Amino acid sequence: MFNLLKAPLRSSSRCISQLRATSKSSILINQRFLSTSIILQAKRDRRSYRRPLKRRRINIPDFATVSQLVNLMGVSYDHLARRLEEMGFEDMNHNFILDAETIGLIADEYGFDVKFGEDEQGEDLVPVIPEENSKFLKQRPPIVAIMGHVDHGKTTILDYLRKSSIVSQEHGGITQHIGAFSVKAPISKKVITFLDTPGHAAFLKMRERGATVTDIVVLVVAADDSVMPQTKEAIKHIKKSGVSVIVAINKCDKENANPEKVIADLAANDIDVEDYGGDTQTVKVSGLTGLNMDTLEESIVTLSEILDLKAQPTNIPVEGWVIESEVKKGMGPIATVLIRQGTLKPGNVLVAGNTYCKVRSIKDEGGKVIKLAGPSTPVELWGWKEVPEAGDEVLQAKDESQAKKVIETRINRLSKQKTAQSVDVINKLRLEHKKEAERQDQLDELRKYGLEEETEDSETDTVDKIKEIKFIVKADVSGSTEAIVESIENLGNDEVKCSVLLSGVGFPTDTEIDRASIANAIILCFNMKIPKDVDNKAIKKNVEVRHHNVIYHLIEDVTKILSKELKPIIELNVLSETDIKEIFEIKGKKKKITRIAGCKVRSGKLERSGLIKVMRDEEEIFRGRISTLKHAKDDVKEIAKGRECGVEFENWDKFQAGDVIQVYEEKVIPRFL
Ligand code: GDP
Repeated sequence: MFNLLKAPLRSSSRCISQLRATSKSSILINQRFLSTSIILQAKRDRRSYRRPLKRRRINIPDFATVSQLVNLMGVSYDHLARRLEEMGFEDMNHNFILDAETIGLIADEYGFDVKFGEDEQGEDLVPVIPEENSKFLKQRPPIVAIMGHVDHGKTTILDYLRKSSIVSQEHGGITQHIGAFSVKAPISKKVITFLDTPGHAAFLKMRERGATVTDIVVLVVAADDSVMPQTKEAIKHIKKSGVSVIVAINKCDKENANPEKVIADLAANDIDVEDYGGDTQTVKVSGLTGLNMDTLEESIVTLSEILDLKAQPTNIPVEGWVIESEVKKGMGPIATVLIRQGTLKPGNVLVAGNTYCKVRSIKDEGGKVIKLAGPSTPVELWGWKEVPEAGDEVLQAKDESQAKKVIETRINRLSKQKTAQSVDVINKLRLEHKKEAERQDQLDELRKYGLEEETEDSETDTVDKIKEIKFIVKADVSGSTEAIVESIENLGNDEVKCSVLLSGVGFPTDTEIDRASIANAIILCFNMKIPKDVDNKAIKKNVEVRHHNVIYHLIEDVTKILSKELKPIIELNVLSETDIKEIFEIKGKKKKITRIAGCKVRSGKLERSGLIKVMRDEEEIFRGRISTLKHAKDDVKEIAKGRECGVEFENWDKFQAGDVIQVYEEKVIPRFL
């Protein structure tokens, strides 16, 4: 936007320090700002503007259009526009949006005492880091995530562990799926908390968020399949997050199990396996038969002892992470929270993202109401105002009034960030509209003189737009919604892509169906059985609702939908070739001359109804149809190889001897993403 003049650089310390003093946000004083200020000052020194004796104060808004700035400063639009041009702004108009930094510069230039809006940091919560040697620090259970390639046995291992979980044993085998559960290791009787997140690649984002949640990753590698793409992805994630790892070589009960190959492949992929002298433990297990599962659990306990995991259960605010969230019918929003520090009690107020919870009830993973929950405990919480998102950090507020203020601050901050991002887009769009309007004016002008065709073929007309297929994503839990949105937004190419209009937890609402109908969007439902009335409403509104329970089937389905939008490849197959030997010119009525090509079929047969091309020196000079095909004086439908004929074309007669007529067929080859 700036096209700054290379003016002599002189110190402009007054201008800079003044702005620094008036802006609480030092981010505004960036490099661009400095150089612009210096140049402005240099110009000011040269021109010596008329200034009010006492500089008037002006409060700088976050954003303002040029017109609004005119009103704010009480100057004339023409004068301001001229000044902006001198300052290097191009393509400026009255509704161009300026940001606070630029407004500050201009106002200063006009002799105002600029005052940036009181930078409302607002009230927010930040995590409280316990003192290193605090006497309140206590050992806490490790938080463990299971990762690995699809089908290598993550779910089987989790199921095996869940069956031996604490609540499962207390409640006679009844466990709920709440995203995390705790197990007592068989020998040491120490507690381990497992995160129960699905292992599909679509959940990578959640797992990445989980990097700070998890202490240990159990990398599951099937002994009959060894290291696979998702194993490598998991290794990348482990290395990036610096989390500790134990390898579970699974399916060791199988005859074709080859754990030695797994160990060698892991070493080749940068895992420092103990079998080769490193310190990453490998345990040969079977999630199916339970082989060595106790060793795996005890290895986790040993590693957690080495890691010396501690948290402060008392004398510190409660903190944690949202693991899962959903709206339960008749019960409102609930979330599984993994406590990181502090001890949660009913009545506590927690903030997560842009919502808060006055804890109404705490349930353990078995659905039993409990009164207290300490570090590394997964609990289900009731009392949320809205559904928080999986991966959100949970921080305790003093009371509801503080929680509300914190949320207000966060929403304001988000809206400012969004406005800042959209300002550039709005300005660009406005500029494009302005240019398009100017182009139309030019065309209208040219049309008056019958010249428009020369400009019609301009560059802008030939630019292909990316087709957007619109979706609304609804799933049973927020983790899945997030993962699906993330995955499908990454599908597509430079011809077609997904646009997710809305996403959320629970059945599609009436408003969402209406929105889908208006926008021609497809509703994707994941892991939900939709009530009949919702389905009927969608049918009535002609809205397509697609259901899936397996995430990669959903992704495949969306890929197919997008693929249908790809322009197919049209392959031309030449079926016959005919040489034009000589040209006959026949005079008709009103002395009209008809040109006829005298031809001989070289290969295949020349069909009158076929699609044809005429080639000259290997280059196509005509594509169209034959209007007349004659053998001697007879009209014929086709001419066989080696025979002669006369040919006329539909609306074209620029052929000459030596040209070749090709009959071709078009083969439409669909493309896939
Ligand atoms: P995930 O995609 O990693 O969660 O894999 P699953 O747990 O769904 O397992 C995939 C398949 O492997 C299933 O058919 C399981 O029954 C099977 N499987 C998992 N663990 C073992 C094991 O230790 N031994 C044998 N023989 N089969 C297993």
